Order: sequence, then C-alpha cells, then structure tokens
Amino acid sequence: MRAGTARLRTALRTPLRRGFATSPRCLDKYGFIGLGQMGYQMARNLQSKLPPTDSISIYDINKDAVQNLKAEMEGAQVGGAKVSLADSAAEASSEADTIITVLPEPQHVKSVYETILSALANTPKKDRLFIDCSTIDPQTSRAVASSVTSASQGAFVDAPMSGGVVGATAGTLTFMLGAPTALVPRAEPTLLRMGRRLLHCGDQGAGLAAKLANNYLLALNNLATAEAMNLGVRCGLDPAVLASVLNVSTGKCWPSEINNPVPGVIEGAPAGRDYAGGFGIALMKKDLGLAVVAAKEAGAKLELADKATEVYANAAADERCKGRDFSVVYRYIGGKE
Ligand code: NAD
Repeated sequence: MRAGTARLRTALRTPLRRGFATSPRCLDKYGFIGLGQMGYQMARNLQSKLPPTDSISIYDINKDAVQNLKAEMEGAQVGGAKVSLADSAAEASSEADTIITVLPEPQHVKSVYETILSALANTPKKDRLFIDCSTIDPQTSRAVASSVTSASQGAFVDAPMSGGVVGATAGTLTFMLGAPTALVPRAEPTLLRMGRRLLHCGDQGAGLAAKLANNYLLALNNLATAEAMNLGVRCGLDPAVLASVLNVSTGKCWPSEINNPVPGVIEGAPAGRDYAGGFGIALMKKDLGLAVVAAKEAGAKLELADKATEVYANAAADERCKGRDFSVVYRYIGGKE
C-alpha cells in the first residue's frame, strides 16, 4: 500500500461524465447486483441521480426486492436513468460499463463473479469497471479481481463503505476505495452519487484493509466502553457524569461519545430505544471475523481478537441481544439499564 494519507474526494466535486450531455443516445450503462438493506437504497440514489439517457439493470435473488425497487424508481417524480430487470447477475452485467455489487459475505461475492465471468466467457471482451462495495476479506477480493483481469472483462475495485442504512438512504456514505490511481476518476462519479466521501486508500484490496482495521478498532472500543461504563456505574457513578468525564478525557471514542451503550446517556443513541436500529451485532461479529482472517494473512498479531470474538459471538446468539445494535454488549456483560 502506498505511503501518505488517503485522498479525500467529496460529493462537492462535480462528478466526471463522459460523452456529450446533449446527445440523445444512451451514454452510460450500469448493472447493480445485491438489493438488500444497503444495495436497495444505494441503487435508488444512483438511478435517481443519473440522466434519462443512462440505463441501469438491477438484479437480486430476492425477486420482491427487484420488483419493488423498479416500481419505486419508475414512480419517482423526477428524472433518473432507464431501469430494466435482469434475470441473472450475468444479464445485469453483460451490457454494462459499470457494475456495482453489494453482497453479504465472501462466498456470495465469489459465486456471483464466477457466474458473471463464465456467462461472459464467449462474449466480446469489454473494458468494464466492477465496483464491489461488500465487506469481505482482502484475500477473496484480490482473487476475484484477478479472475476479472484474467478473463479480460475489465477491472475490479473494492469500495467498502461506512454510514449504515441511514447513510445509504440519505446518500451520505463514505467509501474506502482500493484501486489503482488511474481507475479512481472512473469509480468516483458513480460512488459519489451514492455517498458523500470517497477515500482512496491505495491499490485494489486497500479499501477493505482500511475498513477491517477500522471495524476491528470499533469492535474493541465498543466493548471497552461498555466495560468501563459498567465499572463506573457499579462503583456508584451516575452514567451521564461518567460519560461527560470520559468524553473530555483520554478514553473518549465514538462509542463513548456518540453511541454510548448505557440507555439515556446520549439522546438518540440505540441504547435509548432498547438497542433497536444502528449497526447490527451480527454484522460486527462478521467484520471482526474478517479482520481476523485478514490479520492471519498479513501476519499481524491481534492479542485481543479471540476474547472479543467470543463476546460478540455469544452476544449475537443471546435472545436478549440478538438483532440489536452492537452497543448491546453492555447488556450482555450485565450492565445496569
Ligand atoms: P443484506 O443481507 O441486507 O443484503 C444482501 C443482498 O444480497 C440481499 O438482498 C440478498 O438477496 C442479495 N444476494 C445474496 N446472494 C446473492 C446472489 N447470489 N445474487 C444476487 N443477490 C444476492 O446485506 P446489507 O446489509 O445490504 O449489506 C451488504 C454488504 O454491505 C455486507 O457485506 C455488509 O457487511 C456491508 N455493510 C453493511 C452495513 C449495514 O449497516 N447494513 C454497513 C456497512 C457495510
């Protein structure tokens, strides 16, 4: 990975477009695969910000998601690219110049790209740009990137994101892009139609390395904050007083300041609504597992990973915590609510 800071690109920059704005022909063709909690909203934002001369072909194994999204896109009052339904991931990709994938786990990304590349094997080679926004491990991502290059079907870059469903819906996501510098201007306009910030982290795989390092730190900060809050409260402190001390002291972190795990300490935090919404504990468990895989591959020692993994796995399976925001680990460790 190159030295220096990730280059920040924001939606304030005018997205680059190719072709001529006055031309009536279809300019850019997009494929979008994976219309779950994140992908559905991202595809909606992308389509609505593209001109009617562009087109987007959408696909998910969940037929209802595809139908609903098409209806929503076509029912929108203003503009937007022409929408078509694809019957497979390969069909969504075949005509497209840019294909976005937003899939759950490494095995889904691997199998979707295998399907696409085998279907495209006997078609003319095309300089497509595949942008994978899924959170997977860098090793799988690199293997998929190399299969795309070997098949001469274009280039594959990783652009995992942060901002959650709220950011996906509002179009304010932050993308961590792993791509050769030459491909950044090609990926940028597409990503900035679905998000507000683009951080170019380095070559292919670097976006995922950054995402997993960040989420590893977040997992530990969250658990440490829950433990520290529980310690202080059980020593007799008012949780709001303790939080106000932490948040002007060296213990301050995102879980202490924004997403405090003790109900009532931070207005609007998931803890105050029985840990509903927010970043699901199962997703944190998954990202922690991916960070461990990436660390093994890179030879990085993670002394705290085993214990944290055990806590998140147990909490994610605990009926009192299942399906809730990851700050619910406070409840799991017996914190007073
Ligand atoms: P999700 O499970 O809601 O959506 C995934 C979608 O992929 C589903 O609609 C599913 O039907 C579809 N899918 C699965 N296999 C497929 C296949 N073979 N072909 C086509 N479609 C297929 O997941 P999500 O919450 O949208 O997350 C997507 C990715 O983004 C994950 O890697 C996740 O870790 C990451 N992420 C999620 C959040 C979040 O808050 N939800 C935040 C940041 C990053």
